[in-house]
Amino acid sequence: MAEKTIFQKIMDREIPAPLVYEDEFCAAFNDINPQAPIHVLIVPRKVIPRVGEAVAEDRETLGALLLAAGKVAEKLGVSDRTKGFRIVVNHGRDAGETVPHLHVHLLAGRDLSWPPG
Ligand code: AMP
Repeated sequence: MAEKTIFQKIMDREIPAPLVYEDEFCAAFNDINPQAPIHVLIVPRKVIPRVGEAVAEDRETLGALLLAAGKVAEKLGVSDRTKGFRIVVNHGRDAGETVPHLHVHLLAGRDLSWPPG
């Protein structure tokens, strides 16, 4: 069996990290190296290495990640349009991917420049 990813270990409670949100498809916890006052990672329970490797049967999981992002943003008080948040998914080297377990970054709590770096 493949070694667990760091995110699986967090979701399996082998590495302590308070969960901000969880449902049958995914869980969310704070990024260890936050890039904004709010920086949450939303991670599917199924290990999909990166978004471009998702397959048709992952449709429900992929949708659940975005629904979860909306719920996390609401829970953290940034879903109002006068505040707001950004979600980011990094795929591969040029995007800066470091953990090969699909995850959605939710960033908020400061002005987020556009275009992104
Ligand atoms: P990415 O560069 O898109 O692959 O994002 C991986 C993210 O995982 C980075 O923002 C890291 O700071 C974060 N990270 C790595 N290890 C942990 C951990 N143990 N707990 C929380 N976040 C982590």
